[in-house]
Amino acid sequence: RKLPLDTSEEPGVRQVKGACFSLVKPQPLANPRFVAVSHEALALLGLNGEEVMNDPLGPEYLSGSKVMPGSEPAAHCYCGHQFGQFAGQLGDGAACYLGEVKVPPGHDPEQLRDNPSGRWEIQVKGAGLTPYSRQADGRKVLRSSIREFLCSEVMYFLGIPTTRAGSIVTSDSKVIRDVYYSGQPRHERCSVVLRIAPTFLSRFGSFEIFKQADEYTGRRGPSCGRDEIRGQMMDYVMLRTARLVAQWQCVGFCHGVLNTDNMSILGLTLDYGPYGFMDRFDPDFICNASDNSGRYSYQAQPAICRWNLVKLAEALAPELPPDRAEAAIDEYMALYNGFYLENMRKKLGLLKKAEPEDEILITELLQTMHNTGADFTNTFRGLSQISCPTEGEGEAEEDVIKKAADLLLEQCASLEELKAANKPTMDPRELAMLFSMAQSNPALFQMISDRATIARQLERLSKLKDLMETSQEELKTKHAEEWRRWITRYRKRLAQELDGQSDVQAVQEERVRVMDSTNPRVILRNYIAQTAIEAAENGDFSEVQRVLKVLEKPFSLQPGLELPAWAGKGESAEQGERD
Ligand code: AMP
Ligand code: MG
Ligand code: MG
Repeated sequence: RKLPLDTSEEPGVRQVKGACFSLVKPQPLANPRFVAVSHEALALLGLNGEEVMNDPLGPEYLSGSKVMPGSEPAAHCYCGHQFGQFAGQLGDGAACYLGEVKVPPGHDPEQLRDNPSGRWEIQVKGAGLTPYSRQADGRKVLRSSIREFLCSEVMYFLGIPTTRAGSIVTSDSKVIRDVYYSGQPRHERCSVVLRIAPTFLSRFGSFEIFKQADEYTGRRGPSCGRDEIRGQMMDYVMLRTARLVAQWQCVGFCHGVLNTDNMSILGLTLDYGPYGFMDRFDPDFICNASDNSGRYSYQAQPAICRWNLVKLAEALAPELPPDRAEAAIDEYMALYNGFYLENMRKKLGLLKKAEPEDEILITELLQTMHNTGADFTNTFRGLSQISCPTEGEGEAEEDVIKKAADLLLEQCASLEELKAANKPTMDPRELAMLFSMAQSNPALFQMISDRATIARQLERLSKLKDLMETSQEELKTKHAEEWRRWITRYRKRLAQELDGQSDVQAVQEERVRVMDSTNPRVILRNYIAQTAIEAAENGDFSEVQRVLKVLEKPFSLQPGLELPAWAGKGESAEQGERD
């Protein structure tokens, strides 16, 4: 049910009962203009990016400042579990539904592989107050909009299911924001991203509106054999979720806010806030500065998504028998592992028969990466340089291994970097006290709710101690040994790839082809987004468009088109949006 437009002067932020949509009017921007467009995303709607950019009305319509004929803008009501707690009504506080666009004739069928509906829903994010804005203003600023715009498109080009972004518009309208990392409030330009998806009415939280106690009208009607269809829907959501998370893990992507309202039943990456791609591999990587316990850390993602599936099942309980939902969710971890291993095997170029020891090989690779502070993306990209062993390699073997290790070592952390990475963030005295408690009174220690965080801090501290007693030379030797050991095992495994094949060259070429189209050469590192943001804030939008252009082909080298080199800035900026 849609609630009619609130025509009173007051924007009417409120609790909305008994409806899943409220009609709203997007608030126009002052002097809207394009920062960038995604030609590929706009093409989904039958729009030509070039024409849209040159049309004076382009930024007006694509920011919701003017409403298109036939469009009936609305804000969607949804609930959600935030950081493990049911938060009640959330809803589109800054986003606004504009309508649906029928897939234009002559579309690329590949584009519809994840959207059999034949329609695209379009939405403006940052379009102003809605009944769901709560204490905020419904606006987004340039920073957070650029982050959302770029990452939506980058994920798509990496082959990872996601909502899309057609354009980003900025304006002379301003809002005040406390910039998290500087602590200073400042005026920032209101900006709007045009988002595109098969539907946004697909959040797990969309199904949680019935959880609001006074709205619980769910009464089970006669099932008429529908239980099985509903069960199959749960199977579908479970499968899509498992596949999505496996893909995230394999590119080192951390979502940052996996609340149930940021999960889609279509298995799309949804809501780009404080996300981050890992640089150096760290299973405990956290990209959300307000995530103190690491609930949404990189390695927590698969289990957290399962937890979210359980919450979805609870929300569907009146209509979906709990034991059927449970049966679906029970399959999740095994499916996730299957997708993850399948993807990882490709990343390692293990293309023939799966071997039982592959899982150990992958775990040891990640362990070596962690120990040596290796860059996630560059390490995987470098693996295709390691050749299969050839018959009668003999003496040359040593040399091949040494060269490969040297190559991988080039992008590992220095002693100083590793020390910095392992510096505990907690007060050392507090940590020392907790450490002695963990030793002397384990039962008491067990009662501390945040003990996982503390354990991680302690682990860092002990690593830091070891590093303090190591020289750069010793460290380098140690890292080289670790890599040589792993590469030796890896090449032994590669020998099995050759089994019975006489054309070693052909096998090697096929490996490199698959690996180099699975392991991206470039990803959206934080400093790259930050460089584009800083340029745009100074009025130069070309960097946003250039970064998009590079990342539209993340697997290939585009001569003359390179990402900015790391210049030692940007990383200190909060990864998050603080929109
Ligand atoms: P998120 O953490 O981004 O998933 O957002 C949680 C809730 O806050 C959702 O209901 C959003 O619509 C709402 N929200 C986020 N940013 C804003 C904003 N700038 N103005 C109003 N509501 C917002
Ligand atoms: Mg959200
Ligand atoms: Mg958000």
